[in-house]
Amino acid sequence: MNKININKVAVIGSGIMGSRIACHLANVNINVILLDISPKELSAQEKKLNKKITDKSVRNRIVNESLQKAIKSKPSPIFKKDVLDKIKTGNIDEDLHLVSNVDWIIEAVVENLDIKNKIYDEIENYRKKTTLISTNTSGIPISQISEGRSENFKKNFLGTHFFNPPRYLKLLEIIPGEKTHKDIIDYFMKFGSLVLGKDTVLCKDTPAFIANRLGIYSLMSTIHSVEKYKLSISEVDFLTGPLIGRPKSATFRTMDVVGLDTAVNVSNNLLKDLKNDESVSMFKLPDSVKKLYNNKQWGDKTGMGFYKKEVDEKGNKTFYQINTKTDKYETYENNQDKELLNIKKEESLDKRIVDLVSLKTKHGDFYRSIFYDSFRYCSLRIPEVSDDLYKIDKAICSGFGWKKGPFETWDTIGVEKVFNEMLKLKLKPARWVEEMLSLGIKSFYKFSDNKKHFYNIQEKQYKPVPGSEDLIVLDAFKENDVVWSNKGVTLYDIKDGVLNLEFHTKMNTMGKDVLEGINHAIDVCEKQHTGLVIANEADYFSAGADLGTVFMLAGNRDFDSIEKSIDAFQKTVMRVRYSSVPVVVATSGLALGGACELSMHADAVQAHNETYMGLVELGAGLIPAGGGTKETTLRVSSEYSKGDPEFNKLMESFMTIASAKVSTSALEAQEMGFFKKTINTANRANLIKDAKNKVLDIASLGYVKPTMKKKIKVHGRSALAMFNAGIETMKQGMYITDYDQKLAQKLAHIMCGGDLTQECYVDEQYLLDLERETMVSLCGEEKTLQRMHSILFKRKPLRN
Ligand code: NAD
Repeated sequence: MNKININKVAVIGSGIMGSRIACHLANVNINVILLDISPKELSAQEKKLNKKITDKSVRNRIVNESLQKAIKSKPSPIFKKDVLDKIKTGNIDEDLHLVSNVDWIIEAVVENLDIKNKIYDEIENYRKKTTLISTNTSGIPISQISEGRSENFKKNFLGTHFFNPPRYLKLLEIIPGEKTHKDIIDYFMKFGSLVLGKDTVLCKDTPAFIANRLGIYSLMSTIHSVEKYKLSISEVDFLTGPLIGRPKSATFRTMDVVGLDTAVNVSNNLLKDLKNDESVSMFKLPDSVKKLYNNKQWGDKTGMGFYKKEVDEKGNKTFYQINTKTDKYETYENNQDKELLNIKKEESLDKRIVDLVSLKTKHGDFYRSIFYDSFRYCSLRIPEVSDDLYKIDKAICSGFGWKKGPFETWDTIGVEKVFNEMLKLKLKPARWVEEMLSLGIKSFYKFSDNKKHFYNIQEKQYKPVPGSEDLIVLDAFKENDVVWSNKGVTLYDIKDGVLNLEFHTKMNTMGKDVLEGINHAIDVCEKQHTGLVIANEADYFSAGADLGTVFMLAGNRDFDSIEKSIDAFQKTVMRVRYSSVPVVVATSGLALGGACELSMHADAVQAHNETYMGLVELGAGLIPAGGGTKETTLRVSSEYSKGDPEFNKLMESFMTIASAKVSTSALEAQEMGFFKKTINTANRANLIKDAKNKVLDIASLGYVKPTMKKKIKVHGRSALAMFNAGIETMKQGMYITDYDQKLAQKLAHIMCGGDLTQECYVDEQYLLDLERETMVSLCGEEKTLQRMHSILFKRKPLRN
């Protein structure tokens, strides 16, 4: 086969999935043609405007409206606005011929085999023989779709099952047909992972493939437990959410978001298709849920489902849950069970799971029932849906946002212990589990040679998890390669001369322990290693400096200690900048405030596409004083051409900080100037590996310790007057409060170099001193204390 390259894609069907898949392809720089059907009638608005049914704007109405709806949806499907330039829209009647010019056609039309077939018939009139073609079906067998089609079609055809929302949910199931060319399967496994950033899982062509079949089973098994264990809807959501490493929407809130109609569709299809499944009855909805369905209580789309929200005239919201016995909505309180609340405080997910399963209460019974039943079901689905257990964990975790899949959870509790308990509860797992235990193998996974291995059922031995051979998973370095640690960080030797510093404080905030860790890591690297990566595997890189400590010191009016802690932070980031080894910060998720400042001082940032970075200090009544204001000023200054100060650029950077703007992607963070434009990491799993390679690349070019910047041009009072006038206008226009004005003036003061009568050159320490003085003075302000209090205790910013 010729080399495959995907640069241009046609997406047919612009509904929930098609429009968002198109956006995600555009995110990663791929040109897209998005097509949908033309309307049969004019809308009222079109009639008013005297439009004709043949007008292009009318013919493209469905596709254009769908795309607009997607763009406005939250969370946003696009990395930044201008990626939309990559998407061209059209209608199937007139524009289908455009598919002759693309590398890949994705069909995402309604889940109806007849409609899909009709579309494929038409596509086949235009498709080039080398163009790849795939369906996004969530349940129609791939073999049924390709039945009766040409050999060339079958060779180029497969299922590419994205999950909703495609930008954020990591799973991409790749489902080959019997005749799909092996090179195409291999290509999609890699392309999906490296370019689209998805966890690609190779599936068999079985009903609902892997994630939906097993994930929905687990959901149904939980729903059936409500009556058995006399639990309320909100209680089940508390028990099955973040407490066990699953999304906040847990069980019933997820059903409300997805829509009960969709859930009923999927479960009906599974009931129909699963002929030899011993547990098929679990897919039948309980009567109480059927009643909701018949009453059109489908969740968010019909305004009520398992939950209902009411908003009074003053905007106060009241939430209700359905009582499945009385079919009435009633108010509810958050969980009050002391034992559960204590377990919730535990940071380690493994420990929480073990504690919850050991409870002697009805909650313990509930957990044992839902976990063990799901373990049983998943073990019995091998080899039906997959030959390998790791694919089941990967598909469920990536498709449903769980932290631990069934086999990983089983490992956490203890395979043998659970096996024995399952027998007592008459939940007998598959024979291969018993066989594995009889061979003396006591866990489904293990780490060795710094790699994750899984138990290969056919070969009856551990094998490295395919595709993860080159990845760096920190757990695999825990046993033998921890160089140093304290309460807030662990320093690992990730080999080839590179160390990795991991933060593990709450929200990975950067306090004393973290600062000590960074300094120590650089000391060790400078003595005997090539370079340092600062990275972790959490959902967020770091929420920034430890605001709690600053708030406490400010409350005690202990300004000396505040000054010392800012000084320590500044010295640490400067150490990162001026060490004799390359330091690369790898970001994913939130990188706010101090974390953004740390990144700005690294030799390079290796960012995951989903990086949300910003200098947000003004929201807390402070200014960036960990080098962020200094570094921003320095960067703008270095862009001035001689004698030609570009105030616009300075003003733009000032506004980014003053508005506490946070990027919505790594691409936007680069545009905001936080780090240089390079290739970002699409797949989160590759991040530490990519960061390590970056350290090695920088070192291989001959790294020399940078020299301090001594000539930073600042403009003094003349620029300050201009800034203050602009700030005053914003105040007059009521865009900002009095206190916002004060904070903005303080920020401008630093960025202009302080109270200087004329423009001149200053060094970095001069600006750092200004940052520090300003920050200390703000800690004495009541309104700053109120802002910090609101963020820390109400988790939302206050505009006082
Ligand atoms: P949708 O109903 O939102 O969109 C379907 C699109 O198909 C619409 O834009 C519609 O105009 C178009 N369409 C309707 N009739 C057509 C016809 N005769 N010819 C061509 N196009 C036609 O559906 P969706 O949720 O985007 O689902 C699309 C596919 O993706 C389905 O196969 C579905 O099973 C699958 N899927 C959906 C989800 C999900 O969460 N919604 C997740 C994974 C996979």
